[in-house]
Amino acid sequence: MNAAQPPSPASTLGPPLWLLAEVTYRCPLHCAFCYNPVDFARDDTELSTEDWLRVLREARAAGSVQCGFSGGEPLMRDDLEVLVAEAHRLGYYTNLLTSGVGLTAERAQALKAAGLDHIQLSFQDSTRELNDFLSHTRTFDLKQRVAGIIKDNGWPMVMNCVIHRLNIDYIDRIIEMAVELGAEYLELANSQYYSWALLNRDQLMPSREQLERAERITNEYRQRLGDRIRIFFVVPDYYEKRPKKCMNGWGNVFLTVTPDGTALPCHTARMLPGLEFPNVRDMDVKSIWYDSEGFNRYRGDSWMKDPCRTCPDKEKDHGGCRCQAYMLAGDPAAADPVCDKSPDHHKVVEAVERANTPGWKGAEQPLIFRDPARSRELAACGKR
Ligand code: SF4
Ligand code: SF4
Repeated sequence: MNAAQPPSPASTLGPPLWLLAEVTYRCPLHCAFCYNPVDFARDDTELSTEDWLRVLREARAAGSVQCGFSGGEPLMRDDLEVLVAEAHRLGYYTNLLTSGVGLTAERAQALKAAGLDHIQLSFQDSTRELNDFLSHTRTFDLKQRVAGIIKDNGWPMVMNCVIHRLNIDYIDRIIEMAVELGAEYLELANSQYYSWALLNRDQLMPSREQLERAERITNEYRQRLGDRIRIFFVVPDYYEKRPKKCMNGWGNVFLTVTPDGTALPCHTARMLPGLEFPNVRDMDVKSIWYDSEGFNRYRGDSWMKDPCRTCPDKEKDHGGCRCQAYMLAGDPAAADPVCDKSPDHHKVVEAVERANTPGWKGAEQPLIFRDPARSRELAACGKR
């Protein structure tokens, strides 16, 4: 290479360190804030066990070191133990992201024997009423039992609760429940408004007052509890003035494989227009990562438009999230409208203002719960 030329993205690119295996979109729950695409039920084909085993081997050979088994509910696959065992044998650090439904004592023991390193258990709230309302299932008591099973098997207890307007006022009780269940880590992740959650944005977005109170209470608990539990509080990016460095950069660290084998730089990227993403059935993981058009499109900064193109902060955030740029600005190459330099920033400001208007009726609309029939209906109207 000529020394005067800037390096191409491929020449400085590291491996896909983090493999997210979305093994199924099937899920017994119906969360209103689900992170799966709106059209998740459009195609219900799933990779076979053999396909997944090959993907695990190819990704490991390409340099992946962490493997998250996710979904939907990954325990809906009865070959999960086989996949975990192979991932463990290959040397991955393995993580299961689960609602807890399907994690019986027997399956937990089988997963332990297969070498599973880590489980993240999600709750919707600290009360049975709200947990069961938000997931549209009776799962609260089951989740409590599953928390005990996780502890009994000696896994670190990692609890996740998606935070939003409807449960944020009970943040103290959520933290106390995590402590009572013996969690070592608690992730209080404010809902981000992608995919299914975007359908319910008006009902889910907290007010500034709610958010500030929740952060203050979380900090008080952090001080009081010290090392007993590590609490992460993720602010909704609509309340920021600069976007997040989405996925740590497009095609930089994360490789997601969806149930049907589509390989994506992030789990929502399939919504982006004009991009063909490769499938692990047709292309090996290394070629997907380094050579495919879908993974290369938003690497580097040559795709950027103003204001990002000439912005001194472009290395910090890579222009934010491509999906959010598409959803709010209609252009995946635009600046993420969360940024106050974006010409579309007013759309974020307006959504936040509505959430802060006392008595605003939009917040009281019925939630749209995640459901396969609804997904197919919405997909027929072009929603992704
Ligand atoms: S967010 Fe809820 S509905 Fe969506 S996959 Fe997770 S548990 Fe299932
Ligand atoms: S203009 Fe673009 S690069 Fe600059 S801070 Fe905003 S999103 Fe980031």
